[in-house]
Amino acid sequence: MTFKKFIKTVTFIEILKGMALTLSRFFSRSVTIQYPDERRPIAPGFRGQHALAKHPQTGEAKCVGCGLCATICPSQCIHVFREKGKVSRYEIEVLRCIYCGFCVEACPYGAVVLTENYEYSDYSKENLYMTKEKLLSNWDKYMPGNKGEEYFKRFWRPMSGDFETPSQQPMFRGKRS
Ligand code: SF4
Ligand code: SF4
Repeated sequence: MTFKKFIKTVTFIEILKGMALTLSRFFSRSVTIQYPDERRPIAPGFRGQHALAKHPQTGEAKCVGCGLCATICPSQCIHVFREKGKVSRYEIEVLRCIYCGFCVEACPYGAVVLTENYEYSDYSKENLYMTKEKLLSNWDKYMPGNKGEEYFKRFWRPMSGDFETPSQQPMFRGKRS
């Protein structure tokens, strides 16, 4: 043990530094928030619950059932069924999804999206098995107005302004030693 290390050990300097840091946090703004009453802004490009996009004019699903999303999905959790040239069933086993976003990238029609919704925990596995109807209703719920259009314009290309620290974001200002 070097002399410097010895002095540090016997004077408990590291412990005192740690306690000083803890004490300084008593008088700074809290970093915790009262969820669900308070929420932080969602990061740009956040990948939440899936939705199936609808045509703005007809309101029909954009999906043509080509199956590219199901083929590329590394979790093999997308199931597409076609009957008489139409998509009869489109299902996602949400519990197996790893939110990689490959399905969105692979779709040539912009028919599947990952919305910003992250609040869909449930006690039942069945409720987390997304059917075509549930996925289409997610589009109405989480992609209203021109949000869907904006999503594809900016997908994987968030703007620099998106990364500015929100004014209400508490910052940890401890010094590095
Ligand atoms: S996000 Fe990835 S894992 Fe989830 S359904 Fe799409 S391709 Fe599959
Ligand atoms: S969501 Fe897109 S990639 Fe998947 S089956 Fe439909 S059209 Fe094809």
